[in-house]
Amino acid sequence: MRIFRFAVVLLLLALPLTATAQRDFDAVEIQTIELADGLYMLIGAGGNMGLSVGEDGAFLIDDQFAPLSDKIMAAVAAVTDAKVEFVLNTHWHGDHTGGNEPFGEAGALIVAHENVRRRMDPATFTDVMGNSNQAAAVALPVVTFSQDVSFWWNGEHIEAHHPGRGHTDGDSVVWFHEANVVHMGDNFFVGMFPYIDLDSGGSVDGMISTSEYVLGLVDESTKIIGGHGPLAGIVQLRAFHEMLTTVRDRIQGHIDEGMSLEEVLEAAPTAGYDEMATGFMSVERFVGIVYQSLSE
Ligand SMILES: [Zn+2]
Repeated sequence: MRIFRFAVVLLLLALPLTATAQRDFDAVEIQTIELADGLYMLIGAGGNMGLSVGEDGAFLIDDQFAPLSDKIMAAVAAVTDAKVEFVLNTHWHGDHTGGNEPFGEAGALIVAHENVRRRMDPATFTDVMGNSNQAAAVALPVVTFSQDVSFWWNGEHIEAHHPGRGHTDGDSVVWFHEANVVHMGDNFFVGMFPYIDLDSGGSVDGMISTSEYVLGLVDESTKIIGGHGPLAGIVQLRAFHEMLTTVRDRIQGHIDEGMSLEEVLEAAPTAGYDEMATGFMSVERFVGIVYQSLSE
């Protein structure tokens, strides 16, 4: 019953967000930030994108929402004559895969962890409400992998690694080894409380271990693209990791004391971090997700 109620709450929260996003698409401009020669971060509405361009063609990480695809294609065309040959999805959420259909129709090969395809394919997945994501066939990944995949492309070694359960159960962390850039998808919300999609196999402990995996490989000059928020580096990722571990430890302590969610909220386990709340992820919602994740 609790799972059913949680799904309804998620659905109600998702609806106004979608409506707002659709209303605002006309006003969205795609911002292009150069990170290295031929490597860019694109910011619009929805998940942050990564873009590699060069002799081999364009390689895009995530594609936001379908109504933005003309603007995203124009932003790509502003830095290269080449077409998008690959789209790599960091996970299945619609603000990261919404452009798959137009990009797929334009000839891009879509690549993702196998659970991205499973969750997007109406033939293989329905959620607790009996809905599937109902993605069109052309929007589905045509290349899937279970652990790692490497691209030798535009003079780069681009490596997508599945770090295990985190934001969902189909996440990729994407490394540009030569340029010292990493795209973490939604395992990193820069300066904000993250969304952890428990219904899609996410877990707070998994998100913490994903940030530890990345922290173990980056240095002071690494440029880090989070799924949402501005371009970041090791300092912001350390702060995010510290917040996650602190809040997790406090809530776990309260659970061990037998507290209900209401009592945990009363104990203010996010004290010191409340400025990281957003309209999408309030303190109450974030604490509820962490509490549920630790109670599973
Ligand atoms: Zn997401």
